[in-house]
Amino acid sequence: MADGAPITLYNSLTRQAEPLRPLVPGEVGVYTCGPTVYSYAHLGNMRPYVFSDTLRRVLEWKGLRVRQVVNITDVGHTVGETDLGEDKVEAAARRELKSVREVTAHYTAAYLHDIARLNVRTPSDLPRASDYVPQMLDFARTLDERGYTYRIDSGLYFDTARSPGYGTLAQISMEGQREGARLETVPGKRNKADFAVWRTEAPGQRRVMRWDSPWGPGVPGWHLECSVMSIDLLGRHFDIHTGGVDHREIHHVNEIAQSEAYLESDRPWVTHWLHNEFVLLRNRKVAKSEGGAPLLQDLVDDGLHPLAYRYFLLTATYRSQLELTDAAVRGASSALRRLAGRAQALRPLPDVPTLTAAAAAMTTEAGRAALRRLDEALSDDLNTPRALADLNTAARGDDLPDTDLATLLAAADTVLGLSLDELHPADLDGRADVSTVDEQLRDRLAQREDARKRRDWPESDRIRDEIAEAGWRVVDTPEGPVLEPLR
Ligand code: AMP
Ligand code: ZN
Repeated sequence: MADGAPITLYNSLTRQAEPLRPLVPGEVGVYTCGPTVYSYAHLGNMRPYVFSDTLRRVLEWKGLRVRQVVNITDVGHTVGETDLGEDKVEAAARRELKSVREVTAHYTAAYLHDIARLNVRTPSDLPRASDYVPQMLDFARTLDERGYTYRIDSGLYFDTARSPGYGTLAQISMEGQREGARLETVPGKRNKADFAVWRTEAPGQRRVMRWDSPWGPGVPGWHLECSVMSIDLLGRHFDIHTGGVDHREIHHVNEIAQSEAYLESDRPWVTHWLHNEFVLLRNRKVAKSEGGAPLLQDLVDDGLHPLAYRYFLLTATYRSQLELTDAAVRGASSALRRLAGRAQALRPLPDVPTLTAAAAAMTTEAGRAALRRLDEALSDDLNTPRALADLNTAARGDDLPDTDLATLLAAADTVLGLSLDELHPADLDGRADVSTVDEQLRDRLAQREDARKRRDWPESDRIRDEIAEAGWRVVDTPEGPVLEPLR
């Protein structure tokens, strides 16, 4: 049992919020579909990882042991998500005049760097698909022996007609799904929704990445990878599978079909399916194919702190779409700066890694009530916007004694991952828009401008030093003076 309020999570499988009842009491297995490492992950791609990290943090904070697997897809994911298309990684290697290994190593490192900057805790396991090909071959062989698959020139295909519940997750009728799912025509496919478990090389074709198989040399299907790695690391059945909402319609539907065929068990393969909604840019999904999708590094280059982006993601529930705008991310940055400023005055924050530890450290009823509210918001399908709103109210008000506010901030930090224990408020904006800094600082800046106009350099320097003491460097630009934090 988890500590505190009961955890309910919205389950895409049943389209309703359901209590979390771990298969093994006290332990939770979580599998998150990870990145395909053929290009930089954009800001939209960061959402599934911040979301599953927040989920993990909440579960651990409530006393559960979590094993979290995030896979790295370095083979098998084709351009356009088709069965016959080129491998995304091989296409990138060709484009960049690099080897496949150089491409995957480079983008894997970039991904790990980004998630670390977002305070995403390192998952328990980060399996690479190319390391699991023998297990994938075994899995495919089992499906084949049991008659779930059929052989055509382009590979081994899963026969979705053999899967009675096919499409339940996507909530599409079997007929609708079969007819509507695929536009690509693959000669010999029995049903439109059938998908490749193994993709055999065409005669004359020679892929860079290839393995021998009973169905000819080739590569595993992308869907197969997640089924195999998750079952290998988390066991035949596990609690939670997460991913972006686009996976709900095909990728996860196919994972379920082949895993249930493989397990031949009478209960669902995975209990809870959780899907995060998209980050939008000008009303459309941020996507690699659009070209120029913004990266975390772009925000950093604009003077923002990566954690301002984490805060921004937490301002919406994971199940709602989130429009990415400069104003919204800067607003998140200011809000985080205020929280970090409040926390700074109370540092060092106490070490309260769990809800139970935080509850024991509270000294007043008001403190305990604030902690309860935090727990209730997060246990309610990870309602991070409510948790943040309550936290900001508590930080602004004076209802809590300092010790309890420090405990509350430390507790919130454990689950939200915002580095409130160490973030310097001045780290949050590379350049502060002068209109956003406090009035006193604005006045001093105006006085310095006057002094400069009067050519009173000693006075201008004196004011500059004073502003530096407040933690800011004045930088004169053609648009007027701006402030940069002094570190
Ligand atoms: P990919 O590396 O393209 O396979 O995508 C990695 C993850 O990012 C998947 O879980 C996608 O569902 C997710 N994703 C892609 N675009 C967005 C977006 N704009 N907002 C949120 N999640 C996204
Ligand atoms: Zn997957």
